[in-house]
Amino acid sequence: MLCIGAHSDDLEIGCGGTLLTWLAGARPVDVTWVVLSAEGARASEARRSASALLARAAARRVVIAGFRDGYLPAQFADAKGFFEDLKRKVDPEIILTHWLHDRHQDHRLVADLTWNTWRNHLVLEYEIPKYEGDLSPPNAYVPVSASIARRKINHLRRYFASQSSKDWFIGENFLGLMRLRGIESRSPSGFAEAFHARKLVL
Ligand SMILES: [Zn+2]
Repeated sequence: MLCIGAHSDDLEIGCGGTLLTWLAGARPVDVTWVVLSAEGARASEARRSASALLARAAARRVVIAGFRDGYLPAQFADAKGFFEDLKRKVDPEIILTHWLHDRHQDHRLVADLTWNTWRNHLVLEYEIPKYEGDLSPPNAYVPVSASIARRKINHLRRYFASQSSKDWFIGENFLGLMRLRGIESRSPSGFAEAFHARKLVL
């Protein structure tokens, strides 16, 4: 599995529950975890969080890059080169990345480059709630248990102290979105995470 996030907490917010669910299963999961923009304290947060979240992975590789937060489109050539380099190293069965229509410029570019780079792969695009209000009905759901939903919230609080002053970084926001996706997918626990699956080859 290849998991790509623009910033240090994106993957945990967008698909932390899904990863915890899949990693708790019997099938061994090999994870490459990529964060493009994490500088200073945020880089160490990203590393500590990834190592806790991926504790049950059969194998894991964590790649933390130093692109400038908020300016990813202005670093296009370097970002494209970064993805090309990654392509030579990873051939995943599943890719978790940002939604192609996310209103955050860094998120959108990561989604663009994901689709540019891997063309024979299952790509699932996760959701990030935000000020711009860009959520749109998803079409792929992963039910998560109530205990994993709460573990995700506790994990975000514990590992991303640098974000605690942000008004949107509140456990109830993330729990609420999982509740909503739980209703839509008739999740037995009432919780789910959701994705945009633009293209499926069966
Ligand atoms: Zn982000």
